[in-house]
Amino acid sequence: MSRLASLARHAAPCPALRTLHRPAAALAARPATVRHYAADRTSNPAPAKSTGTSKPGAPTTTNAAATAPDHRAIGHAQQLFTFHTLSPGSAFFLPHGTHIVHALMDLMRRQYRRFGYREVITPLLYKRALWQVSGHWENYKDDMFAVLPGNGDHQHDLAGAAADHTVVAEDTVAGDRHDGCAHHAHAALAGDESGLYGLKPMNCPGHCLLFKNTRVSHKDLPMRLADFSPLHRNEASGALSGLTRVRRFHQDDAHIFCTRDQIASEIASALRMVDEVYALFGFPAWEYTLATRPDAFLGEAKDWDHAEAALRDVLDNLPANKAAVEASQERVWREAEGDGAFYGPKIDVRVKDAAGRSHQTATIQLDFQLPRRFELTYERADNSVDTPVIVHRAVLGSVERMFAILAEHYHGKWPFWLSPRQVMVVPVHEGAELVAYANKIKGVLAMQDHIDPVATPWHSDSHVATHTSRSRRAPIAVDVDVSGHTLNRKIRQAQQNAWNYVVVVGDREMAEGKVNLRASWENQREATFARLDLFPAVGRAGAERAVPLAALPDVLEMLGEPFVEAALRGQA
Ligand SMILES: [Zn+2]
Repeated sequence: MSRLASLARHAAPCPALRTLHRPAAALAARPATVRHYAADRTSNPAPAKSTGTSKPGAPTTTNAAATAPDHRAIGHAQQLFTFHTLSPGSAFFLPHGTHIVHALMDLMRRQYRRFGYREVITPLLYKRALWQVSGHWENYKDDMFAVLPGNGDHQHDLAGAAADHTVVAEDTVAGDRHDGCAHHAHAALAGDESGLYGLKPMNCPGHCLLFKNTRVSHKDLPMRLADFSPLHRNEASGALSGLTRVRRFHQDDAHIFCTRDQIASEIASALRMVDEVYALFGFPAWEYTLATRPDAFLGEAKDWDHAEAALRDVLDNLPANKAAVEASQERVWREAEGDGAFYGPKIDVRVKDAAGRSHQTATIQLDFQLPRRFELTYERADNSVDTPVIVHRAVLGSVERMFAILAEHYHGKWPFWLSPRQVMVVPVHEGAELVAYANKIKGVLAMQDHIDPVATPWHSDSHVATHTSRSRRAPIAVDVDVSGHTLNRKIRQAQQNAWNYVVVVGDREMAEGKVNLRASWENQREATFARLDLFPAVGRAGAERAVPLAALPDVLEMLGEPFVEAALRGQA
């Protein structure tokens, strides 16, 4: 076995891989010696729990963990996702679950615009040659899905190709082992007539192809490519569990191609994104581990030393770390010496949820090897060429896994910006006129009120005027309860079904063009009312606030702005 192959069997070349394949028990058993720097962040407490017994931001470990909900039960009760035996390990996201997945991706897309990432859409299927150059075919094939075209004529050839894969792989990745025979990767990528394909388990090789297809100058770096592609990994069927161990998943994946000098600033920027997003989620704590050069490594020791020094410097300069040092407390990160992958050092992030349970989530991974395998180059200022470094990074990690963590962290009470059930309109009786008013409110919030294709064709001026004036606002997920139940029962049911706000309307509200806005759970109520006080038109009345219908979309838009909402929760 080649040196690389033997190394790679212990650490496949992508950060999330090790995460997914590390047994959960091993994760839980890792020593948590680091001080949880965010544990004191009482300005970002977790949302109130249904039990109301644990203080936000100060989770108790054992008791809370014992009573913590299971995301599978929440998913079933709220009709978020389901599975079928005909596609084991691949979730079917139902409409409400899909809403949450998209809200998470939208959040990351917004961060990408701020942090200078560009999103790409890349293929799912690649010829075997790609996986041979990346090393996956040799080292990770059993965890991948190989795909045969439907054409029966190929079947015989493919059977042969699949059988001799080891021999072919040995030949085509030889360039890597001989350290820089430049024609090998080019030749291997140019021709593969086997007809055999691999369904991608990670995005990196595809992004390398994108990079390789472009003439890249030093001015183009850092190049940050983000990708939400579905990924498939052949997890053992016995290991599959809910959304946490799946075969098909998505990542908020990105690869940063950069120079060695840009490593520190890119890592700092990636960590800042982690901090912002995790604070928004209201996680009570998260911690960083720097994993350094293992005994068996590839590349130059000086490159490793340089990169590790840069990462230590970034971690030392985290605002939270500087604050801790100033307060004569322990630093907020720890070092796992020799724990890095063979291809580069990495920073793993673990979060604590509201129940005090710890989860491996974000990872930021330097890679000196993949750019060499693909013979990637960029032009330096003096027209010479150099090899870029790749930073693999994910903030959410697996979107499915983060979905599960958040479902349990929030006890199924999704914050408004993430919630698939945002506003339930409840008429106090079901007279025709009042129900019409309730439906009008629904139309306004869902932005469906102007949809009348006959009266207002899409190309008419009035349609354009209406639409552009509101195009920045997102439609609200809203419904009307005309079940015929009593008012109290409707309100209680809306709360139980995790609707964030209940809008109650009676004859008086209809006459005045108002609604009564009621927040479904307590900490949300305080935050909401604090915000509503800023609107002079909004009245005060006990558990509800009277809001003019005309102002309701603006009020909800402000309440639903993710970072504002998190800040409000902090004040509550
Ligand atoms: Zn990657």
